[in-house]
Amino acid sequence: MDHQDCIFCRIIAGTIPSEKVFEDDRLVVIKDIAPKAPVHLLVLPKAHHPTLNEAASDPVLLGAMLACAARMAREQGIAEKGYRTVVNVNQWGGQVVFHLHLHILGGKPLTF
Ligand code: AMP
Ligand code: ZN
Repeated sequence: MDHQDCIFCRIIAGTIPSEKVFEDDRLVVIKDIAPKAPVHLLVLPKAHHPTLNEAASDPVLLGAMLACAARMAREQGIAEKGYRTVVNVNQWGGQVVFHLHLHILGGKPLTF
């Protein structure tokens, strides 16, 4: 499922460098390269799904991504104050990288 032209597949494969903060058999968590909050992580499934729409057939994966986000938030110390999880979908949703990912944003009050 490694898509050569997909930046997140290449990050998962290790051919593009990234700051990995977590990895298991299905997921990789990296620091966003252009953070929009003091904590800005991306939960990437290792399997290539272009958007949430295609991944809807794997609700176990989607649940694992959210559970992972909660764990990352706890480990980053942002769980108690609060944080945001976001999945942008397609053009109107503001998706730029077409490999499903969940944003974790926190570390300050989020007003946007
Ligand atoms: P989205 O608009 O949901 O597709 O968001 C894509 C996110 O990926 C943006 O927040 C980018 O800053 C982030 N991003 C793009 N390239 C990289 C990279 N090489 N390493 C880490 N994050 C990246
Ligand atoms: Zn990919």
